[in-house]
Amino acid sequence: MGHDVSADEAIWDDACALDLKHVFHSWQAQADRHPVEVTGGHGAWLQYADGREMLDFTSQQVNVNIGYQHPKVIEGIAKQAALLCTIGPDYANLARGRAASLVVRRAPEGFNKVFFTNAGADANENAIRAVRLFTGRDKILSSYRSYHGNTGAAISATGDWRRKPNDYARGHVHFFTPYLYRSEFSATTQEEECERALAHLEHVIQFEGPDTIAAILLESVPGTAGILTPPKDYFKGVREITKKYGILMITDEVMTGFGRTGFWLALDDYGYTPDIISFAKGCNSGYVPAGGVMLSDPIAHYFDDVVFPGGLTYSGHPLAMGAIVATQEAMEEEHIVDNAYNVGHDILGPKLSALSETHPKIGEVRGKGVFWAVEMVADRTSREPLDGATMKQIVAEGAKLGLVLGVHDNRIHVTPPCVITLDEASDGVERLDKALTAAGC
Ligand code: PLP
Repeated sequence: MGHDVSADEAIWDDACALDLKHVFHSWQAQADRHPVEVTGGHGAWLQYADGREMLDFTSQQVNVNIGYQHPKVIEGIAKQAALLCTIGPDYANLARGRAASLVVRRAPEGFNKVFFTNAGADANENAIRAVRLFTGRDKILSSYRSYHGNTGAAISATGDWRRKPNDYARGHVHFFTPYLYRSEFSATTQEEECERALAHLEHVIQFEGPDTIAAILLESVPGTAGILTPPKDYFKGVREITKKYGILMITDEVMTGFGRTGFWLALDDYGYTPDIISFAKGCNSGYVPAGGVMLSDPIAHYFDDVVFPGGLTYSGHPLAMGAIVATQEAMEEEHIVDNAYNVGHDILGPKLSALSETHPKIGEVRGKGVFWAVEMVADRTSREPLDGATMKQIVAEGAKLGLVLGVHDNRIHVTPPCVITLDEASDGVERLDKALTAAGC
């Protein structure tokens, strides 16, 4: 017997009731849900079903870089849908070829090929597969403070608690990356943190055995772990070490890529060239799911004569590709990456930092572009993280003021769409200021 259809008919127009009854959600206990219905959006704004207009300081999963309902992206998807909605990965398709060309031109010199995936986790999955095949080695080194996706190798490479209950951990080794505010190295300056983090990494490599390590996998700016902007010279140092020991480097730009940090790729601000770059979210702002792996020439050419044992039915799906082409073109035409840089430089940086003067529970403000963390503490001297109940209250106070806030542990992640205007960003910080006061922070 199927489920009770007539009971569903009674709630057919009630999105929240249907959601509670039939949709199984990620990363949460199913009973602990209070869904909110969203009916539309534009730019940095979301329209709630109860009529409220909400300023979005999250970009959802930090993916809606181009903002909601961008007309050029909608048109791009619609045009592709009218032409051809689906075609397998073996055929040539103009949207796919153009999408690859537009994506790869953002990488440093020496990258010409893209393997398309459906999202960020499978991008990292295939990046890891490629370096293991290319090197014939097994180990992947990644940061304890990282998130790389929720599939076998990607979740094993993830450093936070989510990696633990899985059976795929073979060959994954973790190490500490810079986080001066809670330094693992007792450092007191960024220079010290950088130097000691690099020495630590080299030590780990020596103890693991360089000839067992396929690659180091790092986010250019660890996002979910706390928007931990690395010291200026960290990646140059990592690159020197990887070259010294003949180890490859994968850069995960899934969250940071395509404008988030005020640069096309976050690695641009650190001046280094990895061997592989994974991407997803910002490539088309999630209008149609897509991700991929940019392969540098030597790795791409290795597979000229060796079969790459990986593939996906929807690799380079035409609608996702149409969305990438339209997104990339609109971002260029409308100078959206420059806008993200300016919003960070002129508004979010100075104004969020200024909040520290009046809110004693702000421990540290860090970030760039439209990618900021406000780290909350119970006490500035001990740096003890602020409790979860107060963090929840900040989110609730923000919602009352028409501001959507994202919280991770004791941090507020301020990550609006890259298209947010300077005035909207300023307005949002004022709302955040009031929410912090209302929550007693
Ligand atoms: N890598 C990074 C840096 C991420 O932030 C995420 C998701 O937040 C992923 C990979 C996984 O991407 P997806 O959820 O699209 O699989």
